[in-house]
Amino acid sequence: MVVFRMLVAAVMLIAATTSQDVSTTLERFEYSQPHMGTLVRITVYAADGPAATRAADAAFARIGGLDQALSDYRDSSELTRVSGQSGGGPVAISDDLFRVLRAAVGMARDSGGAFDVTIGPLSVLWRHARRAGELPDDASLAAARALVGAGNLELDEARRSVRLLKPRMQLDLGAIAKGFAADEAAAVLTSHGIDRALVVVGGDIVATGPPPGKPGWRVAAASIGGAEPGSFLDLRQAAVSTSGDAEQFVVLSGVRYSHIIDPRTGMPLTGRRSVTVVAANGTTSDALATAVSVMGATAGMRLVDATAGAAARMTEETAAGIRTYQSSRWR
Ligand code: AMP
Ligand code: MG
Repeated sequence: MVVFRMLVAAVMLIAATTSQDVSTTLERFEYSQPHMGTLVRITVYAADGPAATRAADAAFARIGGLDQALSDYRDSSELTRVSGQSGGGPVAISDDLFRVLRAAVGMARDSGGAFDVTIGPLSVLWRHARRAGELPDDASLAAARALVGAGNLELDEARRSVRLLKPRMQLDLGAIAKGFAADEAAAVLTSHGIDRALVVVGGDIVATGPPPGKPGWRVAAASIGGAEPGSFLDLRQAAVSTSGDAEQFVVLSGVRYSHIIDPRTGMPLTGRRSVTVVAANGTTSDALATAVSVMGATAGMRLVDATAGAAARMTEETAAGIRTYQSSRWR
């Protein structure tokens, strides 16, 4: 019994020394690499520099692999291959693609179709419109709209397959893949023993444990009026995503068109709006931020309140000036 107690004491002593040693010797390391059309930034606290670099390299490699698989811009991606088989039978897909699609289907359902990864034909049409500087014609718009609808995508859990019911459908994971990639990169860092990390993939940010001695990673929530008081978040074991038209938009005949499209009308959102969502993970925050952008403040905040662990803030330019909306958990 005495031996047992001494053993416990020894273990506790070791634990105490280790945690003290670690917190005093942790150093900050920052890395960045271009992936998924943006600069990915990884910040970690670690005791061992070479080990931190190995972990970051593995996390970047994971993101690079996901980009190869999930990009709708790459002819060689798994996603493009699946789209190419639309109108045919079920297609067996990788675990990564299956997990993203399962989350996407869930968000399509929860958002009443405001979030929809079958948006591809409309994305292509409006991307072209942005580049050409002119609106798509009615016939092309109608043709693209007819191909869009989450009900045309069937997932088979048992077979790990997906079936796209109509020919010429195209998947576009642009509203969810970055958040998923940030989650997966954070998991890679954790598996390498790094438990205080921040992964930034464009507007999608995932945090694990906080910097030593801090409540969380200090992150500014974007808004169209510039940073406001109270717009800083201390993020730990959580994710934050921002959707808005700050970068990708086009002005045609005096109307500002966003890169976010309302699947129900086929038209991009107009006007200025920025949505920041905090959620348990990046897949959810990314998809939810896009969904809330489309749904608008009232329905959008209702969905956020119904999502466990989620909070959101939206700023919107109206005729009466900039309006701000917050979900009930935002504070
Ligand atoms: P995000 O920046 O996360 O809001 O994602 C925007 C991107 O998602 C766009 O550039 C499109 O590729 C795609 N997208 C646009 N509208 C939608 C929508 N309603 N549902 C799902 N994805 C969309
Ligand atoms: Mg998104």
